[in-house]
Amino acid sequence: MPSANRDQGTYDTADYQAADGRHHLHPFTDFKSLRSRGTRVITRAQGIYLWDSEGHKMLDAMAGLWCVNLGYGREELAQAAYTQMQALPYYNSFFQTTTQPAIKLAEKLAEVSPESLNHAFFTGSGSESNDTIIRMVRRYWQLLEQPQKTVIISRNNAYHGSTVAATSLGGMRYMHDQNSLAIEDFVHIDQPYWFGEGGGRPVEAFGLAVAQQLESKILELGVNRVAAFIAEPVQGAGGVIIPPASYWPEIQRICDHYGILLIADEVICGFGRLGAWFGSDHFGIRPDLMTIAKGLSSGYLPIGGVLVGDRVAGVLIDQGGEFAHGFTYSGHPTTAAVALKNLEILQREQIIETVAAQTAPYLEAAWGKLGEHPLVGEARSLGLLGAIELVKDKQSRIRFDDKGSAGALCRDICFDNGLVMRAVGDTMVISPPLVITTAEIDELVEKASRCLDKTLAAIN
Ligand code: PLP
Repeated sequence: MPSANRDQGTYDTADYQAADGRHHLHPFTDFKSLRSRGTRVITRAQGIYLWDSEGHKMLDAMAGLWCVNLGYGREELAQAAYTQMQALPYYNSFFQTTTQPAIKLAEKLAEVSPESLNHAFFTGSGSESNDTIIRMVRRYWQLLEQPQKTVIISRNNAYHGSTVAATSLGGMRYMHDQNSLAIEDFVHIDQPYWFGEGGGRPVEAFGLAVAQQLESKILELGVNRVAAFIAEPVQGAGGVIIPPASYWPEIQRICDHYGILLIADEVICGFGRLGAWFGSDHFGIRPDLMTIAKGLSSGYLPIGGVLVGDRVAGVLIDQGGEFAHGFTYSGHPTTAAVALKNLEILQREQIIETVAAQTAPYLEAAWGKLGEHPLVGEARSLGLLGAIELVKDKQSRIRFDDKGSAGALCRDICFDNGLVMRAVGDTMVISPPLVITTAEIDELVEKASRCLDKTLAAIN
C-alpha cells in the first residue's frame, strides 16, 4: 500500500524502495532481490562523496561506474549544459549538418589522442561505440576486397558492453550463457591475469605466453579471416587486470606482423585513469581504433565515441561512400559541450599530470600495504585503478570455495561503513575520481582496511 507520504507526493526512503522494487528493472541486478532487500537511494554528491536518502555519507572509490573523473558538483559542467541547451539543445549530424560543440570536440580529441587518431565518430555509450567499431572494421576489410576478414579476437572475461554485438565481442561467459552469444566470428584468448591464472610461472614469461596466444589463434583461424584484436589496456570490469610489462609490446608486434587492426577499448583507461591521457600512451600501444566513453564527460552526460586512425579513416573516407550507420544522439551538442568543458578542465587544472606525479604513486604505496592483511592475497594498482584479491589462505593463495561470497560480503560491509568499492567475484576493485587528494587516499585506504577486518571477522 502506498504510504500517506506518497499520496502527498513526498516520498520517504521506504516509499522509494517499494516503488523501485515494483517498477524499476536495474542493470546487472537480480530483479527479485530488490523486492526483499530494497535499494540504496543516492540523492546528492560533492567531490568524491555521495549521500543517500537516509543521510549516510560514503566515499565513492568507484567514481560512479569508473566515470566521474572530475568528481561530483562541478558547476562549470552544469553551466556548459545549461548554456548549450538554451542556444541549441539538440540537433543531429546526419545528412550534411553538424553543430559547433561536436566539431570542437572532434578537433580537441584529435589533439589529445595518440598521433594517428585524427577522426571521431560519436555515439551515446561505450557499447554503441564498440558496435560501431565492429561495423567499421568489417566495412574496412570489405572495401579492401577482403570481405572474409570478419573475425575479431577478444579476451576471456573482457567487458566491452551489453548490446548483442558488444556482449558477443566481450568474453564474459555468464553473459554469453544467457543465450546472448548471438553473433558469430568473435573468438577469445586468455587474459593476462597473473594472480588468478599465472599458475606460479614468472610474471613476464606468463605475460609473453598469454600474448602469444594471439599469434597461435591467428594462425589457427588463418590470417585471411582475422580482422582485428580488441582489448582494454588494463582490463577494468574483469577485475583490474594489470598486464605484465611483456604483454603489450608482444601484442603490438603480432598485430603489426600480420597486419591485423588493433583496437584499444579505452572506455575506462581513457582520459587520465592511468596517469596518461590514454592507457595506450602509458603502454606505448599504437591502436588503429579506440573506444571512448565514461571519462569523456566525467559521466555528467552520456556520450561515447570511436577515435579512428588514419589507416582506417583513409579507406572509409576515400573509398567508402556513405557509411550506413549512426545514432540520433551522435554528436549531441549538449553532451558534446559538456565533454569539451570536461577536457578543458582536465587540461587547465593539470589533473592528469597530478595523477601521474602525485596521487598514483601515493595510492600505490598506501594501497600496497593492504597486501599485508590476512585476507588479502595481492594488492595491486596502476594509476588510479586498484584491486585486492580476497583469499581463504594467504600463504597458498587459495580462494574461497563459494566463489564471490567473500567479495559480496566485503562490498556490503564497505557500503555500510561509508565506502563504495566494487566486488568482481572475490576481487575488490577501486577507481576513484581523478581529483582525489592524498588525504582522501589515506581515508579510503583506512576505511578499506577496517572493512577488511570486519569481513574477516564475519567469515570466521
Ligand atoms: N567497454 C568497457 C571497457 C567498459 O568498461 C564498458 C562499461 O563499463 C563498456 C565498454 C560499455 O560502456 P557503456 O556502459 O557506456 O555502454
